[in-house]
Amino acid sequence: MKIFFRLTTLVKPYFWWMALAALIGFATTGSGIGLLMTAGYIIAKAALQPPAATLELSILGVRVFGLARGVLRYAERLISHNITFKILAKLRLWFYDAIEPLAPARLMHFKSGDLLQRIVDDIQSLENIYTRVLGPPLTAMLVAALMWFLLGSFSLQAAMLILLFHLLAGIGVPLLTKWLSRGLSVGIMNHKTSQQILALDLFQGIGELQLYGKLPGHLAEMRSMEKSKLMLQRNNALIEGMHDSLTGMLMNGAVIAILWSLIPAVSIGGLNGMSLAVITLAVIASFEPFLPLPATVKHLEADKHAGERLFEILDAKPETTAPVTPLPFPSKEHTIKIEKLSFTYPGSSMKALDRLSFTIFPGEHIAIVGPSGAGKSTITSLFMRFWNSNEGSITIGGHNISLFDPEELRRNIALVSQRTYLFAETIRENLLLAGPEATDDDLKKALTAAGLDHFTSKLDEWCGQHGMKLSGGERQRIAIARILLQSAPIMILDEATANLDGVTEREVTETLNTISAGKTLMTITHRLKAMEQYDRILVLEKGKIVEQGVHGELMAVDGLYRRMWELQHVVTT
Ligand code: ADP
Repeated sequence: MKIFFRLTTLVKPYFWWMALAALIGFATTGSGIGLLMTAGYIIAKAALQPPAATLELSILGVRVFGLARGVLRYAERLISHNITFKILAKLRLWFYDAIEPLAPARLMHFKSGDLLQRIVDDIQSLENIYTRVLGPPLTAMLVAALMWFLLGSFSLQAAMLILLFHLLAGIGVPLLTKWLSRGLSVGIMNHKTSQQILALDLFQGIGELQLYGKLPGHLAEMRSMEKSKLMLQRNNALIEGMHDSLTGMLMNGAVIAILWSLIPAVSIGGLNGMSLAVITLAVIASFEPFLPLPATVKHLEADKHAGERLFEILDAKPETTAPVTPLPFPSKEHTIKIEKLSFTYPGSSMKALDRLSFTIFPGEHIAIVGPSGAGKSTITSLFMRFWNSNEGSITIGGHNISLFDPEELRRNIALVSQRTYLFAETIRENLLLAGPEATDDDLKKALTAAGLDHFTSKLDEWCGQHGMKLSGGERQRIAIARILLQSAPIMILDEATANLDGVTEREVTETLNTISAGKTLMTITHRLKAMEQYDRILVLEKGKIVEQGVHGELMAVDGLYRRMWELQHVVTT
C-alpha cells in the first residue's frame, strides 16, 4: 500500500483533471442509463398506443442522451489520455533525472536489459495508472451512488439489492480475480525482463556466442522463456474471460432480484409496470463501469511491482553529489595533487588503491603503468568522480575536487578510454556531445586535426549501432576530435590505443602527442610503448607506487618496470 500511496503522489498535480475525467465518465454512463431508460419508456408506452404528442419529450430524451453519450465518451477519453501523456512525460523525466547521477557507480549491479525494462515497460505500466487503476473505480462508485438513489426512490429493498450486486461486481469479482491471478502480472513482467536481458546479450554478444557454439543454447533458452511467458499470458487471458462473464452473470442476477423485489408492488398497483421496465433497463446499463474493475486490481498489482522497481532506483543515493556552492574550476593553476589516496570497491576485500600519493604539475606529461588490476583505471574513476575515495584526497589547484561541480570538473578533464562509445547517431551528433556550441566549421577542423579529413564531408553519416560503421582507429579518432572540441586543460588517456593494431596505434599516438602539447597529460597504460616521451613514469602495483622516474632511470634498476618492458619487448619484436 505504501508504494501505491507513493505512486498516487505522482499523479497529484493532475487531481482536478482526474476529477473532471471521472465526472465525465460518470456522466457518460449516466447518459447510457438515461438512453436505455427513455428508450424503454417509449417502447413500453407505445405498446399502449398513446397520442404521439405524449412521446415527444421521451423522443427528445433519447436524442439528447444518445448524442451526449458519444460526445461525453470522446471528451472523457481526450482528458484521460491527456492525463496519461502528462504522467508519462513526467515519469520519464523524473526517472532520467534520478538515474543520471547514479551512473556508473550505483548502476553497476543492474543489467542493462533490466534497466531498459524499467525505463520502457515499468514506466509504460505506470503511465496508465489513472486510466486503468484510479479512474474506473471512481466512475463505478459514482454510478453505484446514482443507482442507489434512483432505486431508493422506488423501494429501499431494491436499493439494497442493487447495492449488494454492485458490491459483488465491484469488490467480489475483482478480489476473486486477484486471488486467481496472484503473481501472474508480476510473473509476466519478470519473464519480460529476463527475455530482454537475454535478447540484449544475444545482440551484443552474437559474435562470441557463434564462436563458442553457444548460439543454439541461447536461442533454446529464449524459446523456453517465451513458452513459459505464453503459458502465463494464456492463464491471464482465461481469467480475464472469466471475470467478464461473472460481471455479466451478476448483472443478470441483479435484474432478476430487482424484478423479484418490485413485481409485488406492480401487482398491487403501488408501482406502474412501465417504471419497472425502465428500472430494469437502468440496472442493466449500470453494470458497464464495473466491467473494467477486475482488470484494475491486476493493474494495481503490476503497478505496485513497477513502482517498487522504479523506487529502488530513485531511492538510491548517488555516489557523488555536487556541492551546494561549487568552486569555479581554476583557469590557470591546475597542479594535481593526490595524497594518501585509498579506495576499496564495495563488496571487495582488497584495496584497489592503497595510500597513493603523487603530484602532476601543469603541462607535465606523466605515464602511470603497471600490470592489469594494479589500480590504474581506478585512479581515472576517482578523478572523474565516478566514485568517492575512502581516504586521502585529490586536489586541483589546491582545491579538493569534491568542491567543484562534477560536470564542470568533467568538462575540464578530457578522457579517452579504451573503448570510445559512439551513439547510434550521425557523426555530427556524436561530436556535438563534447562541444554543443560548435559550428560545422569547428567540427570539420577537429576532424581534420584528429586525422579524419575524409569524414569532414560525412557529418550527417550515421555511425551505426555502437559506431559499428567505423573502424576501431576511426572511433578513437572521433574521441580525439571530441577532446579537441572540449578544449580541456587536462587530458587522461586510459589505455586509449590498447585496442588498435600496430600501425593505427602509432598514427593515433602521434595525433594524441600533437594535441596534448601544452596540456597536462596523464597516460594510463599497461603497454610500455614510446615511454621516453614522458616527463615521469609512475609504476603501480597492487594500488601502490613501487617505482617512479624517467624511462632511462627505471630501466637502470632491476624492478617491475624493467621486467615489464623486457617481457613486452621480447614479445613484440
Ligand atoms: P587496472 O586499470 O590497473 O587494470 P583497475 O583499477 O581496473 O586496475 O582495478 C583495480 C582492482 O579493483 C582490481 O583488483 C579489480 O578487480 C578491482 N575492481 C575494478 N573495478 C571494480 C568494480 N567495479 N568492482 C569491484 N572491484 C573492481
